[in-house]
Order: sequence, then structure tokens, then C-alpha cells
Amino acid sequence: MAILLDGKKVAARVTAEVKEALAGLKKGAPRLASIRVGQTAAMDLYLKSQARLAGELGIAYQDEVLPADATQRQVEDVIAGFNKDAATTGIILQMPAPAALRPEALRRAIAPQKDAEGVHPAHLGEVVLGKARVAPCTAAACLEILKHYEIPLRGREAVVVGHSEIVGKPLSMMLLDEFATTTVCHIATSEAGQLEEHVRRADVLVVAVGCAQMIKGAWIKEGAAVVDVGINRSAQGIVGDVEFEAASRRAGWITPVPGGVGPVTVAMLMRNVVELLKDRPTA
Ligand code: NAD
Repeated sequence: MAILLDGKKVAARVTAEVKEALAGLKKGAPRLASIRVGQTAAMDLYLKSQARLAGELGIAYQDEVLPADATQRQVEDVIAGFNKDAATTGIILQMPAPAALRPEALRRAIAPQKDAEGVHPAHLGEVVLGKARVAPCTAAACLEILKHYEIPLRGREAVVVGHSEIVGKPLSMMLLDEFATTTVCHIATSEAGQLEEHVRRADVLVVAVGCAQMIKGAWIKEGAAVVDVGINRSAQGIVGDVEFEAASRRAGWITPVPGGVGPVTVAMLMRNVVELLKDRPTA
């Protein structure tokens, strides 16, 4: 049976480090502005845990809700307001955004020095250069879990399924920096009938697709480390992208869903808030 990669444990360690870093900073009070367009149940869970952790760390948390039919311009205006507001030290734009909006343009609109999610092109560029202090939270969370459990990466076959700008792409760059031999799979890999073949080779498998239990337990290499980013609502509650029970019987390590990547993502968000604060002039 696989060892459980306990996200809550990793998040607790990261949170303690963030708390300590924050106590030593004389940079004024951190304030995180959350912007959400419309309200979805999927967002609520993530939002609640953000607000809770921010409270625990003494980071002020502002929940700005826009109507679901807000235009691109309206959202950009709200972002511009927070960019200008001296009391706001970090901004997060909650996803998913309504289909009428262009998330990439919204991410660009956030001032890089307030981009708490690490998704502005300036931060993504630093990820490519291997120098990011503020990296996309979820990608950073996956790597944090692997490192916490000292899972070997150098020279190992890492397979990332999903190539989104906020998870799969930056994570593949981070894994390359750890000298893992990294393959990125996506929808066209499945269309070509090659997904299983790639997954079977993975010593380290990270799945960020959003398709309930699409990775079959039988595909997992014996002893592999499996990080499941997916969050899917099903009749059995929230499930990941990997068939957890069957995969656990083959894997060496595996993240549960929930309780795996999610809590660490929130902790990495707070770490980013503090990293951004470090760059501000002393209060
Ligand atoms: P996305 O929706 O932007 O992209 C999905 C990716 O999956 C794309 O690369 C697409 O090509 C690929 N894909 C789709 N169908 C596929 C198939 N049949 N075979 C192989 N690849 C396929 O993804 P995202 O925003 O990175 O989110 C992915 C999942 O991760 C979602 O379930 C989301 O809820 C979850 N998520 C979790 C956290 C967390 O903190 N745990 C954070 C962000 C996202």
C-alpha cells in the first residue's frame, strides 16, 4: 500500500515557516484582495480555506464579489483599483471565471508586485529561468509535497498530465530544474491513444486535468509517486483524476483528494503574499 502524501501535514509546515517569516518582517500589514466573478460552489471551498488561513496568519483578507455577468472591462477596473491601493499587498483572481472573460488578459492586468498567485507572465518567466520566488501556487504545491517526502526526482521519469498555464506548464519547468526527465501529456496525447503508455513509464506522476478517475490504477508503475491535482464533484463526493484505491495498491506514494494538493496550494498562496511583502519598502 502506498504511503499517503499528507497535504495537511505539508501545509502545516509551510504555514509555520510563513508565520515565522512574517513575524520578522517590518513591511507593514499584509492584505490580500480576492476577486471573484459570480459565485460557484467549486470556488467556495477554496475561498473558505484561504480566508481561514489568512486569518490564522494575521493577513487581512478582502472578498470582492462581482456579478456573474461582469464585463472584462469591469473586472480590469477592479484589478486596477487594487493595483493602486497602497493597503492591498496581494491580489488573487478566483477561478474558474465565467466563459465570457479572458483570464489570461486579467492575469496580465494584475501588477506583478501584487500577483499573489504567481501567474503573471513576469512570474511565469522567472519559473522558466528557474529563479521564481513567487511561482504559481498549485504547481509550487506539487513540488513542495514531492520535496517534503524526499521523493527522488533527478534522472527519474516525471509525467505531468495537463498543460494549463497555472499547473501543468510551470510544474513541468520546475521538474526540469530538478533534473527529472519530464514528459507533458494533454488532450491530444489521449486523442492519439498514448496516455496510458506515458503514464505507465512514470516514476513521478502528476495529474491536473479535471476528469474524475480518468487515470486507471492499473496504469500506475509499481512504487511510483502520484500527485493528484484534480478536484471533481461526483456521487461519491469530491474525487481526483486518479482511481485512488486501485492506484494506492501499486504506487509508492499517493496524495489523497481532498487533503492532498489543495491545502498546500493555499499555504503556498500565503507564502507568496509574504514573498511579495518582502519587496516593499520598510514601513
Ligand atoms: P485546465 O482545465 O486549464 O486544463 C486541463 C488540462 O487537461 C489541459 O492541458 C487539457 O489538454 C488536459 N486534458 C483534458 N482532457 C484530457 C484527457 N482526456 N487526457 C489528457 N489530458 C486532458 O486545468 P487546470 O486549471 O490546471 O485544472 C485541472 C484540475 O486541477 C481541475 O480539476 C481543477 O479543479 C484542479 N485544480 C486543483 C487545484 C488544487 O489546489 N488542488 C488548483 C488548481 C486546479
